[in-house]
Amino acid sequence: MIRAVKGTRDLLPPSIAVWNHVEQVARRVFRAYHYQEIRTPIFEETQLFARGVGEETDIVTKEMYTFEDRDGSSLTLRPENTAAVIRAYLEHRLDQRPGIQKLFYLGPMFRRERPQKGRYRQFYQIGAEAIGSESPAIDAEVIELVVEILERAGLSGFTTLLNSVGCPACRPRYVARLREELGEAAPRMCPDCQRRAVTNPLRVLDCKIPEDQPVIERLPSILDHLCDVCQPHFAAVRQYLDDRGIAYEVRPRLVRGLDYYMRTTFEVVHGALGAQNSVLGGGRYDGLAESLGGRIPAPGIGFSIGEDRLVMAVEEAHPGRFADRPDLMILPLGEAALRHAGLLARELRRQDFSVEVSPGGKLKRTLETAHKIGARFVLILGDDEIAGGTYSLKDMTSGVQTPVRREEIARRLEGIQ
Ligand SMILES: [Zn+2]
Ligand SMILES: [Zn+2]
Repeated sequence: MIRAVKGTRDLLPPSIAVWNHVEQVARRVFRAYHYQEIRTPIFEETQLFARGVGEETDIVTKEMYTFEDRDGSSLTLRPENTAAVIRAYLEHRLDQRPGIQKLFYLGPMFRRERPQKGRYRQFYQIGAEAIGSESPAIDAEVIELVVEILERAGLSGFTTLLNSVGCPACRPRYVARLREELGEAAPRMCPDCQRRAVTNPLRVLDCKIPEDQPVIERLPSILDHLCDVCQPHFAAVRQYLDDRGIAYEVRPRLVRGLDYYMRTTFEVVHGALGAQNSVLGGGRYDGLAESLGGRIPAPGIGFSIGEDRLVMAVEEAHPGRFADRPDLMILPLGEAALRHAGLLARELRRQDFSVEVSPGGKLKRTLETAHKIGARFVLILGDDEIAGGTYSLKDMTSGVQTPVRREEIARRLEGIQ
């Protein structure tokens, strides 16, 4: 038997209702903050991600699904979407449109990671980019938006982590300090850290190996090395978040795995997710457009929510709450009743009710099915009901059965007595 490829999965009912809930919430919040949707292709030229994500990152070196097209060009299934959004911004000269370009996306990304709980090779992200401003007010608004999506989706007990990673003016000084300190410490650290201490010392701060943490704790903090542009920028972001009463924790080691981040970085973690506790990450990437070869400056900030993990956490917090339940199940007794049921169901479906018609069978069985699929009401239809024009409507929650006229059914389904 052919099965789904390792690291991929089918999203099935009833869980799919939670996915739809999360996406509907996100779309509503994006609309409130005047973000508009962008849909970029699933695959792009490999160069885009190599440059935009960073040649040295795990994503580019180990995890991308790269293949040669029939004409010999190298293509890659998108491992993330920020580089593609910036590519589209540059390609279509969105900088010439009025105002800041605020774009959001929903969709699958692909990384060949080791499959584990909450981590898939085809995974889903809900993300957004605000491009065209360096203002710290935008940073605060983006973080506010993210918190709004998580809260409205039904997630609670999460922590927002915040940091500044400096800029090309001040970061090199910090990296030099780091390299100096690591010269002594790195030989006692994990192989990845030993390599990074030379190639990209900043990424040592990212290491999750427990044995390395005491060393990492003692390394100098980037917040003591910010220049006189980055320092007030970070202070302003914090001030605007404080104004809104949005809680956060400053984490000087939060550097994120991607090369193009600059100044503000943030992450949201949630306890229920265990070791894979990050729900989303984001940050400012003012230099990304230039690193993609763009001539137009495109300072921006964005984030991407790991939708698989968010759905898992929401489902755990509210089991069964978002299931798609039919409003009504009609149980016709016999052929005449079945034909009548078809017409009645059509009438109610046109009024936006979710209606199921049982194709027949033993009444006891069909009642059991109605119960199992979670129908809110059941209407049993026989020849007498059709002839008399009065039906018997059963409320499946209370078990109470009451007679209703045809024209009253819709109002009863809406909960009006
Ligand atoms: Zn700086
Ligand atoms: Zn390490």
